[in-house]
Amino acid sequence: MIRIPSSKGKTVAVMGLGKSGLSTARALMASGANVYAWDDSSDRRAEAEAAGIPVASLTNGLWNDIDSLVLSPGIPHTFPEPHPVAARARAQGTEIVGDIELLARAEPAARYIGITGTNGKSTTTALIGHILETAKRAVQIGGNLGTPALDLAALDQTGTYVLELSSYQLELMPTAAFDIAVLLNITPDHLDRHGGMDGYKAAKRRIFDHCHGTAIIGIDDPDSAAVCVTLRDNPAVNVIAVSGSLQVDGGVYAEDGILYDDTSGEPVEIMDLRNVQTLPGAHNAQNAAAAYAATQAAGLSRADIVNGIRSYPGLPHRQELIATIGGARYVNDSKATNPEATAKALGSYPLIYWIAGGKPKEGGLEAIEPFLPRIRHAYLIGEAAAAFDAALSGKIDTRISGTLAQAVRDAHAAVSAEHPSDAVVLLSPACASFDQFPNFEERGREFARLVRDLPAAGEATP
Ligand code: ADP
Repeated sequence: MIRIPSSKGKTVAVMGLGKSGLSTARALMASGANVYAWDDSSDRRAEAEAAGIPVASLTNGLWNDIDSLVLSPGIPHTFPEPHPVAARARAQGTEIVGDIELLARAEPAARYIGITGTNGKSTTTALIGHILETAKRAVQIGGNLGTPALDLAALDQTGTYVLELSSYQLELMPTAAFDIAVLLNITPDHLDRHGGMDGYKAAKRRIFDHCHGTAIIGIDDPDSAAVCVTLRDNPAVNVIAVSGSLQVDGGVYAEDGILYDDTSGEPVEIMDLRNVQTLPGAHNAQNAAAAYAATQAAGLSRADIVNGIRSYPGLPHRQELIATIGGARYVNDSKATNPEATAKALGSYPLIYWIAGGKPKEGGLEAIEPFLPRIRHAYLIGEAAAAFDAALSGKIDTRISGTLAQAVRDAHAAVSAEHPSDAVVLLSPACASFDQFPNFEERGREFARLVRDLPAAGEATP
């Protein structure tokens, strides 16, 4: 757990008592702060009270002595409208921060690598962390992924925090500065929380606000490519452009699955990414290029980086191979909660029995259009089923399966009867999970359970 010396003797309000809020309250209390914690959910308040955290209403209580408000990133403070507690803090002139800001204040000696982007954050964070760990560097990995920031261990100047950062978290870290900041891509997501695309882009750009080292930017989409152009005017940062598919002069890129380093002005072939089973597709080549650039900036040798990429174990729910049954691979990509993420998975396999649907996000299915010829059948589930069916029927063979269990049965029956070579049964929903599951992890676990229960799954090779 992190101790935050600057919070000693201060009175701090903690709003939102999920995983990161509870961790923040505990760290603040251990640092000698006077904490008032609150959550709109009575269950969460009860959980906090049971853990010995002082709970007090922040909506009605007195605010005069509160020095700062630590807000959970999931709670709106601007759009669609500010939560009353955030509005109150702002009206009082009280600072509003998140847990990453507190970590940065508490551990100023360590190095910081921050990773953001609409898609690929977790993969790139885990990959950078893994490369540094295999090279025997002192590293702590967390933030939006896995361990909350204030539950990480303290690090001195020889250590590195590798932090996944959501756009919400980036709006709650007014002074945190990254030695190495990575922006992978920007496509529309969470627009309601940022008041539209301009607000979302502005939030993502914040990762570079106080960066005083290396800025690594994916240039495979127009919005992050535009950020790359504007950042080149900033003399404080060394900008490295990365791509998963195109040659980039002076950058790090993959072309046809081969990773190249052109940062010295001469393209040097680094490795064949097609042999790394845990990083399939051009999107993962972009993640690998970004991780290469980041760990090179952190001072690692080429051999150490290659070794780390080769041994990357992968993350659950991201194009995770669950089983191979009768020659067909069953792949769990439950984390693909928007059409852009799904398009990446669809682009990774030649012949697909596709399970999609759930709670739809903003925007249409344009991103997946180029990959429709790869889809043999689509099995549609959840709230989005009827709309997806209307958008896709006539273009590909669709069926409304309704539930995930039925979709797995339908896809398995079809792939077993048709038995094409190199087939993949792919759960890549292009939707959030909340209509039928508590979260994308549970949806992915349910898919894995259903696949393992299929007849003949006993012969499956993971
Ligand atoms: P995040 O943490 O940003 O949600 P993940 O690493 O968990 O990203 O990947 C989620 C999904 O996004 C993956 O299953 C894949 O379909 C897609 N994806 C991963 N990396 C990229 C990338 N660099 N560009 C676009 N899509 C990606």
